[in-house]
Amino acid sequence: MHIHHTIIVGSGPAGYTAAIYTARANMKPILYTGSEPGGQLMITTEVENYPGYPKGVHGPQMMEDFKAQAERFEVDIKYERITQVDFTGPVHKLWTESGELLQAHTVIISTGASAKWLGLPSEQRLMNRGVSACAVCDGFFFRGMEVAVVGGGDTAAEEASYLSKLCPKVHLLVRKDQMRASKIMQERVLNNPVIEVHWNTETLEILGDEEVSGMRLINNQTQEIKEIPIKAFFIAIGHKPNSEPFENWLDMDEMGYIKTIPGTSKTNIPGVFASGDVQDRVYRQAVTAAGSGCMAALDAERYLAEKGII
Ligand code: NDP
Repeated sequence: MHIHHTIIVGSGPAGYTAAIYTARANMKPILYTGSEPGGQLMITTEVENYPGYPKGVHGPQMMEDFKAQAERFEVDIKYERITQVDFTGPVHKLWTESGELLQAHTVIISTGASAKWLGLPSEQRLMNRGVSACAVCDGFFFRGMEVAVVGGGDTAAEEASYLSKLCPKVHLLVRKDQMRASKIMQERVLNNPVIEVHWNTETLEILGDEEVSGMRLINNQTQEIKEIPIKAFFIAIGHKPNSEPFENWLDMDEMGYIKTIPGTSKTNIPGVFASGDVQDRVYRQAVTAAGSGCMAALDAERYLAEKGII
């Protein structure tokens, strides 16, 4: 069976950057996109902080650009998921969702992170019936209606601002008395007359039988409970690293982020490298993900050179 030089798992900024670098180093990478090609930026609106786009760029457009650049260097892009691995020997084994076995000398894991959920039964029941984790994807369906966003980070601030252009009223539910979002995003929210921020507020239940009709909230300081009618409930409370297939093989922290040797992309398994949000619980930016994808590519190239493989 053919042993590939490099298999890249994941198609966000980290994966595509690793692909561009490894392809240009003649490592003939194969990139497995996973179930969400393009990753989290596909559900982002405007990206204003990625250097090189002075006027900003839409997340999906940016990922098209990453992909086009990878294709220019003949990266073999497969629209499939890697679901299982075996890192026992020097040659690493990976299985696709359809059961195909692949072998590679080096693996670059760039599987990113996925949205977290509150864990309420009503959330599951009303999923896609008004409950959503993506305002950009689903906000349009609720234009002209009253909606809510839960979370206090940049994602929640961004989703609330986005929805405020479509909806007459947006409730932002923040569980503390302050937001974690960056100052500029907070100011946008606080100065937006369409957005009402509910501080110290948690959700007890999302109401509705067939579709979302309201929410029951509690103020965790006063214990006051109130019900507000809404048509959509957007969850923006952070992310979980997509590291499950590697759980039994790689060292991870308690949240499941893959541990790398500081200053490198090296994991505890020689020849297996991690880059992007799957190993970064701190910065989680497109530009830092891209930078760490570059590191992984260079680490993989050096590994192959040291072994005399290239
Ligand atoms: P964060 O982890 O930054 O924030 C999560 C928010 O959700 C926090 O306010 C947290 O509250 C709240 N939260 C978590 N669990 C619950 C719960 N069960 N109930 C209620 N609230 C909850 O995640 P984000 O997705 O906002 O951001 C992730 C990273 O991406 C950040 O680094 C951010 O800066 C970046 N980002 C940048 C953007 C941009 O630059 N355009 C856009 C979007 C994200 P608490 O504070 O109490 O823990």
